Amino acid sequence: MPTERKYREEIVRYGRMLHERCFVAAMDGNLSVRLNDNHILVTPTCLSKGAMRPADLVIVDGEGHRVSGRRNVTSEIGMHLLIYRMRPDVRAIVHAHPPTATGFAAAGIPLTEPLVCEVVMGLGCIPLARYGTPGTSELAQTLEPYVPHYDAILMSNHGVVTYGDTIEHAYMKMETVEHFAQISLVTHMLGRQQPLKPVDIEKLLLARTRYFGSKIAASMPLPPQSQKVS
Ligand SMILES: [Zn+2]
Repeated sequence: MPTERKYREEIVRYGRMLHERCFVAAMDGNLSVRLNDNHILVTPTCLSKGAMRPADLVIVDGEGHRVSGRRNVTSEIGMHLLIYRMRPDVRAIVHAHPPTATGFAAAGIPLTEPLVCEVVMGLGCIPLARYGTPGTSELAQTLEPYVPHYDAILMSNHGVVTYGDTIEHAYMKMETVEHFAQISLVTHMLGRQQPLKPVDIEKLLLARTRYFGSKIAASMPLPPQSQKVS
């Protein structure tokens, strides 16, 4: 089990990678790690994710109240708390605004077409949650129907959230979402999409169960309640 210091260093490292890849601008984005049942290590507000030091991070309790750290906690802490509450398997969360995936989220287009086998294997599909005002409970509510079924969600007119058993895996899912958004954009530019056939998707889902076990949340196709998104 890594120490708290190691988790702090990891958040700083992946925050810098978000910034270097232009997945965030200015003070955007936030990252967190679940330290134990009642403590979450999370990035502060009003600080570039490319310029954080380990001591800048904040520890909050299960209600989002700061228990350690000098800076103020991210205003998106409610989204992190909701995901940790709904998904006991999740240990880390990354939220960012990668430009292509966020473009899809601003165009109202989910990334749900099975176009690339690796994405079907790793994430299933990436649904689009309706818009919620940042920093309010409304934002967390918009994500609620999707959190149990997916490990990556587009947030309308806002950005993307991904999560996993480690901060590395949560970050990698963010890269996969943005890369898949770029590929999807190219298919839109070419004016043509050739989705995988249902029989091939079945085979990928079987292979995924073999690799990751049955616990992976990466639904394909969309569960019924997710199809009502407008
Ligand atoms: Zn945001």
